[in-house]
Amino acid sequence: MPKIRRMGSKYPEGWELIEPTLGDLERKMREAEIDPHDGKRKCEALWPIFKIAHQKSRYIYDLDFRRKEISKELYEFCLEQGYADRNLIAKWTKPGYERLCCLRCMQPRDHNFQTTCVCRVPKHLREEKVIECIHCGCRGCASGD
Ligand SMILES: [Zn+2]
Ligand SMILES: [Zn+2]
Repeated sequence: MPKIRRMGSKYPEGWELIEPTLGDLERKMREAEIDPHDGKRKCEALWPIFKIAHQKSRYIYDLDFRRKEISKELYEFCLEQGYADRNLIAKWTKPGYERLCCLRCMQPRDHNFQTTCVCRVPKHLREEKVIECIHCGCRGCASGD
């Protein structure tokens, strides 16, 4: 994890504008990591961490340099520093994966019956109305849901 507060020319321009939000998410992440997980199933304890990691990547993605809201330099900096997952963001640019929760849920080998995770199944094709996938607690991330 990168050190958040270190002034100097190392940080690209615009960093001070996104630092409060990222700093906030970093703090939540650390809290989730030290949470005692009492009474939770093991997989469930990881859900908040996945969720915050997702939020961080989404935040950077939404500020995408292509939309000129942040510079390419700052965008790359965030990816290099681990604030966002380059691979996940790459998926979001592909049709059908715009809302993908995490990379694991799209890996067929990790799931029973060689299908992708239940959260990737569009709502109208699922029998259950309310779901939570076992990997990250996703409640459905198919495009169009
Ligand atoms: Zn999902
Ligand atoms: Zn997931």
